[in-house]
Amino acid sequence: MSERVVIIGAGLGGLQCAYILAKNGMQVTVLEQDIHIGGCLQTFRRGTTLFDTGFHYVGGLREGESLHPLFRYFNLLHLPWQMLDEDCFDEVVIGKRRFAYATGHERFAETLAAAFPAERDSLRTYTHFLKEVGNHIYDAFLPREAADFYSSSLFARSAYEYLTNTIRDPLLRQVLSGTSLKMELNRDTLPLYVFAQINNSYLQSAWRLRGGGQQIADSLAANIRSMGGELRMGTPVTDIEEHEGKAVAVHTGNGERIEADIVIADIHPQEVLRLLADCPSVRNIYKRRIQSLEDTCGMFTANIRLKSGILPYENKNIFVHRPDADLWHPVTTQTDSVMISFYPDKDAIDLLTPMRWADVAKWADKPQGWRGEDYVDYKKQKVEQCLQLIEHRLPSLRSAIDHIYTSTPLTYYRYTHTHEGSAFGIRKDWRSPLTTVLTPKTPLHNVLLTGQNLNLHGLLGVSMTSVFTAAQVIGFETITKELNT
Ligand SMILES: Cc1cc2nc3c(=O)[nH]c(=O)nc-3n(C[C@H](O)[C@H](O)[C@H](O)COP(=O)(O)OP(=O)(O)OC[C@H]3O[C@@H](n4cnc5c(N)ncnc54)[C@H](O)[C@@H]3O)c2cc1C
Repeated sequence: MSERVVIIGAGLGGLQCAYILAKNGMQVTVLEQDIHIGGCLQTFRRGTTLFDTGFHYVGGLREGESLHPLFRYFNLLHLPWQMLDEDCFDEVVIGKRRFAYATGHERFAETLAAAFPAERDSLRTYTHFLKEVGNHIYDAFLPREAADFYSSSLFARSAYEYLTNTIRDPLLRQVLSGTSLKMELNRDTLPLYVFAQINNSYLQSAWRLRGGGQQIADSLAANIRSMGGELRMGTPVTDIEEHEGKAVAVHTGNGERIEADIVIADIHPQEVLRLLADCPSVRNIYKRRIQSLEDTCGMFTANIRLKSGILPYENKNIFVHRPDADLWHPVTTQTDSVMISFYPDKDAIDLLTPMRWADVAKWADKPQGWRGEDYVDYKKQKVEQCLQLIEHRLPSLRSAIDHIYTSTPLTYYRYTHTHEGSAFGIRKDWRSPLTTVLTPKTPLHNVLLTGQNLNLHGLLGVSMTSVFTAAQVIGFETITKELNT
């Protein structure tokens, strides 16, 4: 009989692990607590408008680029990807000045060198470095002693230090940091690996998905089912049952006991610890290590439906920053930066700005819809701060607004059970990579972790990590062969 694999969580990581293992003949069951699959890939409909929740764009989808082999393997290249403007896929606005990110490392360096001629050589050094890091992305799949890898790698170097040592002009440093709302810029913690790998993939090429991120989850789910796998929504896992050092079953909130030979958890490791609470093999030292991990900040999102024909679509993302903002400072209550993301096929835009859990924690115990007027006011103020910050870049926006829907870290916490509503999972720290960068292994050898909390967040990071996790089950040779076919 083929091995029975139970996967906890139908986010990108859980679905991709299910896809790989179903493809390899295993009997896969994915259990998802929500009524929808996808986690941070979910879309939601308001009236006739479909909005994205988390995911907005990816990098590196062309042949030879970082994400291409993974998305080819996962059969996701057929989705309606739309390439962003090659002359300016991201625009950084600092005060009155606008700076374009052009596609391709050389064009990117040359475009910015026109504004910073004295930094031409440093820009070339910077892009060459990113390219090199990207070229070695698949090294993460090589079997090795984790200790050697993490302590000697870019996980153990500071992104901030690299940037300040490479680029002299402080304004150019701001520009090179200015699209990084897709990670938590924190000078004390962010590893160079995370900064370089993510920025590199977007410089290769940048893409939106017409029709929203849910299509990624739906496509994976359809393929999993066609390979004999099963997906059950509305099925929260409440604990994992151990027998003599092995997980033998999971229990669900619906009172079911589902037997398993292998359990893969696409959820926060502290949540996994809760599920393992009654397992004698999970020692206090492991518990303390996992409990000591901190989370990255969350996001505030304003999904805005627009009146037709007022605000033209722009085939790029725009990142507007307060001129005096310290982009590498831990997130505060102030609104220093806003990302503007357009929808190609509808009258809608999203505004995103980092938000701390601490700012909304006081409403965490109240049920959604009953958090009170002060919560509603707090969200209105945040929207107003975002609108004020971007007003000079999109002067017609206010008159174009039809309706605004908002979400805070509480929303993510409520819908995807994301710990503290964190946008990018556990905070990896270059000063302690061995503690903060987790491998898939847990004290129970047949319980594995996957998802954004391990190696790298985002669609690229989660896809890599899924392969890495599945390789623990089917072997690195098998998965490498499959990826190259
Ligand atoms: C606002 C925002 C914007 C983002 N923008 C981008 C972007 O533009 N590009 C990009 O590449 N990445 C982006 N990301 C990051 C990206 O979306 C995530 O890294 C990725 O989707 C995480 O996938 P995951 O599988 O690790 O976790 P999740 O998506 O969190 O999935 C975990 C799943 O587990 C389920 N679950 C939790 N507990 C249980 C339980 N006990 N039992 C059963 N099920 C459970 C949850 O409901 C959820 O479905 C963004 C994230 C956010 C929040």
